[in-house]
Amino acid sequence: MGDKILRVNMTDLTVKEEPFPEEWKFLGGRGLSAKILLKEVDPTCDPLGPDNKVVLAPGVLSGSVAPTSGRMSVGGKSPLTNGIKEANSGGQAGQKMAKLGYRAMIIEGKAKDPEKRYLVSLNKDGYAITECPELKGLRTYAAAEKLSEKFNDKTAFVLCGPAGEKGFSGASVALTDEGATHPARHAARGGLGAAFGSKGLKAVAVDDSGTKPRQPQDQAAFKDYLKTFTKEFKEGTNLFEYGTSTTVPVANMLSTFPTRNRHEMQFEHADKLDGKNLVENFETRGGGMHHCMTGCIVSCSNVVHNAAGEYVTSALEFETIGLCGSNCCIDDLDKVAIMDRLCDELGLDTIETGGAIGLAMDCGALEFGDADGAIALLEKVDKGDPLAEAVAKGVCAVAEHFNADRVPAIGGQGIPAWEPRSLPATALTYMTSAMGADHTAGLVIAAGDDPSKSSQEAQLVNALCDSSGFCQFQGPKIENIRALYNAMYAADLSFEDVADLGWQCMQDEWEFNKKAGYDPALPEWMRTEKVPSNDMAITATEDDVARVFERMPVSDELRNLKAVG
Ligand code: SF4
Repeated sequence: MGDKILRVNMTDLTVKEEPFPEEWKFLGGRGLSAKILLKEVDPTCDPLGPDNKVVLAPGVLSGSVAPTSGRMSVGGKSPLTNGIKEANSGGQAGQKMAKLGYRAMIIEGKAKDPEKRYLVSLNKDGYAITECPELKGLRTYAAAEKLSEKFNDKTAFVLCGPAGEKGFSGASVALTDEGATHPARHAARGGLGAAFGSKGLKAVAVDDSGTKPRQPQDQAAFKDYLKTFTKEFKEGTNLFEYGTSTTVPVANMLSTFPTRNRHEMQFEHADKLDGKNLVENFETRGGGMHHCMTGCIVSCSNVVHNAAGEYVTSALEFETIGLCGSNCCIDDLDKVAIMDRLCDELGLDTIETGGAIGLAMDCGALEFGDADGAIALLEKVDKGDPLAEAVAKGVCAVAEHFNADRVPAIGGQGIPAWEPRSLPATALTYMTSAMGADHTAGLVIAAGDDPSKSSQEAQLVNALCDSSGFCQFQGPKIENIRALYNAMYAADLSFEDVADLGWQCMQDEWEFNKKAGYDPALPEWMRTEKVPSNDMAITATEDDVARVFERMPVSDELRNLKAVG
């Protein structure tokens, strides 16, 4: 299929193509990124220095007609955790990059002149790197608008905002969704936007005009299996028909809706933050549900308008509502939508940023519930304000700013809404995954009687999902991925072979982190301070943690487990 790697050297300002190794054909997205980083990056390097590399990698199935399979992985050494990190996003660029035949783009080096900004563009006729002074310092929507004037409507963009350009460790990498001017999808966790921006790179433009979907080697088998797969999905319950924001009542009931900087895990005004309010507003305000990338059949992404009927943001997700809303005691969805938009504009992770603002409120910088104060603070992120800059650097930077000792972070990264004290297997994921406190690495809501096993299995399925190109909200099982990989490459992989690919990804990441000296230390207060509404704290023992690192036999649960984020 002529697969290629594109290597962008920001020091020399050169771009070159390399053949994609045949032995890596079943590696994509997160698994491929881990393999490249382990092979090419010194784990002890400065994450914002020239020796770190940022890998953009669509999944194994991306660019094909497999539904919901065009996700883009962004990988690198994290400026937040100092370990390996992968953040995964929808948007249009993953699908397009794969259709151009690129299995990965490796961005290395660092521009010699820190004042200059560069744009890499690709299309079927080739690639180029050019200076783009007009984009310097621009927030993402303005930058995408300018970019879309230069390129045709088949072009999608990957870019960083001012936070990434300034190397703030809460920075995300933005991807444009259906409209090229909406950089509303973010590879958000781990501060990879700062790694991207530190190279002098402002944007990547991917134009797939004149390309066709990637063709499987066994077209009949691929087509046949897709019929079954799509039918099963359509006949089942689409849990995300109205997006993740409608999860609020369940999360609140389960005591996993952070409130007052996690002093509580149930919010008294949770009903005001329930995503059903957004859905009810669609009729009068406009907006609605859509898919953020071509080929998605889940369409979990909401488009949120204000009372005047104007577009504000997309998508307003559960995690954003939990961290920027209830965690800060902000009970107004319109204000949370503005905070989400500002994070997208600045190129910031809403989880890290909401956690940082909640901690700043707890330290007395603002009153809990002061939405306008939080919005004003975010507005100052790109204007040199020291507290706003600490917020943009994340939870631990705010803790340092105030000398706080009750810090809601694990291994340097702010904790997502899904609360480890209330969810014992998810706690083990945060303590063992190389992704650290990241619910997308292995969220387990119902752990059963062996949290270590539940965590390991969830981590394995999610690692595989993030390598395949599938969105976690499609909920693929290992068997689905196996059937499609076999048809894609006319191969004969067994269930165990495919499960091994997920495990190998985890092992590569663990190896990198061991060399990097990554420390996923759990803050002591999470063992002693119980969640008031369920009296739970983290009780995981050293043995529970150790068991997650030892491969367990394939179980029926693993065979039936769906990826979930
Ligand atoms: S399921 Fe949701 S997040 Fe995933 S690709 Fe579709 S719209 Fe985007």
